[in-house]
Amino acid sequence: MSNWQKNIPLKNFTTLQIGGSAQYFFVAKTAQELTNAIRSTKDQKISFLVVGGGSNLLIADEGYPGLIIKNALSGIKNQQKKILVQSGTALQELIDFTIKQGVAGLQKMTGIPGTVGGAIYGNAGAYGQTISDYLVEVTFFNSKTNKQETWDTKRCKFGYRDSAFKHQSLIILEAVFQLPTADASILKKEAAETLALRLAKYPPTLKCPGSFFKNVIAQDLDPTILRKIPSEKITFGKIPAGFLLETAGLKEAQVGQIQVSPNHANLFINLGNGSAFDFYQLAQLAQQKVWDKFGIKLEPEVQLVNLPALRI
Ligand SMILES: Cc1cc2nc3c(=O)[nH]c(=O)nc-3n(C[C@H](O)[C@H](O)[C@H](O)COP(=O)(O)OP(=O)(O)OC[C@H]3O[C@@H](n4cnc5c(N)ncnc54)[C@H](O)[C@@H]3O)c2cc1C
Repeated sequence: MSNWQKNIPLKNFTTLQIGGSAQYFFVAKTAQELTNAIRSTKDQKISFLVVGGGSNLLIADEGYPGLIIKNALSGIKNQQKKILVQSGTALQELIDFTIKQGVAGLQKMTGIPGTVGGAIYGNAGAYGQTISDYLVEVTFFNSKTNKQETWDTKRCKFGYRDSAFKHQSLIILEAVFQLPTADASILKKEAAETLALRLAKYPPTLKCPGSFFKNVIAQDLDPTILRKIPSEKITFGKIPAGFLLETAGLKEAQVGQIQVSPNHANLFINLGNGSAFDFYQLAQLAQQKVWDKFGIKLEPEVQLVNLPALRI
């Protein structure tokens, strides 16, 4: 409490560089500090939100009325052929560690920003690999029961950009991975190739929260709607949201200082001093246009903070 800061601008903690101030802000360096902070918010009847790297967030211009807890629980160690990692560790740090150890399964996720906790929450992935592939167990704090628990991956209910952590008040503290051995030089090469691809798509100066909408799972669609989608556009059973948005004419659409990228229609970028309000208007317009053209309701992948759900 005494170490909580007040009125901290959240735009400094998001890759989009948008977001008003947090009423309270606290950096937790240990699991004890993090869980104590959550318990205090309950005592004081204020809301809280744990954030990692802020790379998947759209935070309202009004900021956050409550406590933002920045997760700085960091560390990786080997434990009986498994890798144990604290949830605030940068995902890239974990990936680099696995490459050095000569274990495979995360190297193609090279370049995804954020923390291990954020990646597990949203089951992040790229180029055919996802964080849950070789995850063995996750330890978390259940803020409803005030208890720490450990679940195996089955209980975490991972799906496409989805997990049980998204639907319950469960704060990820640490995770254990067990990955198959591989040739470290091959892993290094694959990581470098991935990074080159990503740098072309996401130059380091780009202010964005990653792809805004989730891709669409083809088998979830009504056959009459699916018939409108050219089959060659369906990859790994998914229709890229970028294809739907581009076909609906969204490329380069702009509201205020927020623009749909000319290179990739599922990337909404802050050109300078963009606002969450403008971002939200553009996202809503995009969702509506795809609905009008295809009858498909795109769902955001990015987490909206202190903003209403998009509605069409
Ligand atoms: C340039 C760029 C490229 C990207 N490319 C990809 C990509 O290829 N694939 C992909 O999947 N994503 C991608 N993303 C999105 C983003 O990087 C991932 O979703 C990332 O895993 C989010 O982690 P974070 O720590 O930044 O989470 P944050 O943005 O800080 O938080 C996201 C959500 O996770 C919750 N959360 C964070 N930590 C915890 C925790 N410890 N316990 C419980 N909940 C928690 C937060 O409350 C919030 O709801 C990209 C983003 C950018 C900016």
